[in-house]
Amino acid sequence: MNLQGKHALITDGGSGIGLAIAQKLAAQGAQVTITGRRKSVLQAAAGKGIFPAEMDVTDEAAQKEVIANAVKHRGPIQICVANAGIAEGRALQKTQMELWRKIIATNLDGAFITIREAMSSMTSTDWGRVIAISSIAGLRGLKGGGAYAASKHGVIGLIRSYAAEHLGGPITFNAICPGYVQTPIIDQNLEAIQKRGFTQEQALEMMVSANPHKRLIEVDEIAETALWLCNSASGSVNGQAIEISGG
Ligand code: NDP
Repeated sequence: MNLQGKHALITDGGSGIGLAIAQKLAAQGAQVTITGRRKSVLQAAAGKGIFPAEMDVTDEAAQKEVIANAVKHRGPIQICVANAGIAEGRALQKTQMELWRKIIATNLDGAFITIREAMSSMTSTDWGRVIAISSIAGLRGLKGGGAYAASKHGVIGLIRSYAAEHLGGPITFNAICPGYVQTPIIDQNLEAIQKRGFTQEQALEMMVSANPHKRLIEVDEIAETALWLCNSASGSVNGQAIEISGG
């Protein structure tokens, strides 16, 4: 695969799944703009072909400015990976509006703004890939995680709608739906479960056993799927929600 010179944008590209995708795309020659809120994390991830930019996905004005600036420096975006997301579980009666709004603003509003702003330059090119990182919680209910599941179902709705809107054009839209993946988000989940009185081993077991193949998924397994979607032979894969959950 040759992505030489193609400009990729990845939100939350400094850690976890986003970083793994950034490294794979850069290794194929892409110029990758990675965004996130923490400068230190972004700087640690920066390297050959990987360019950091601070950006909060809940801030529409910041997304407009940062994405326009990236386009100015590296040309029109051709690969957009709307990856930034937060995972916080809370049962229905314990979900206050503040938490609901934070999850929707980050996971759904954030992805919508990223895709819209990236598309304003992508439509000037003759090839493009929009990839959103949803979740298995975008495909089915998540006990104790209604807000997260609603946000991730929403992301799939966006992808399917934009695929329909651009049918026959040079840009495809797909969602990747992982099960539990070994990333810093998982470490945060471990801490949250332990606060509910479980040991670290019990907390880990809960997440591992939620994946049908009884192991955490590696970030590379998700990144390889993103890379495959960027293959020239994947142009007929469009509007899909691709589950990577172990079964
Ligand atoms: P990370 O482990 O990288 O952690 C989440 C990151 O999101 C944080 O590093 C944080 O970076 C960033 N973030 C949070 N809020 C904002 C914001 N407002 N603006 C910009 N960045 C923000 O994440 P993962 O790699 O685990 O997850 C990536 C995506 O994959 C998410 O959408 C997640 O929902 C999804 N996913 C993950 C699964 C998993 O098991 N790990 C399973 C299924 C889906 P910073 O503080 O620097 O901004």
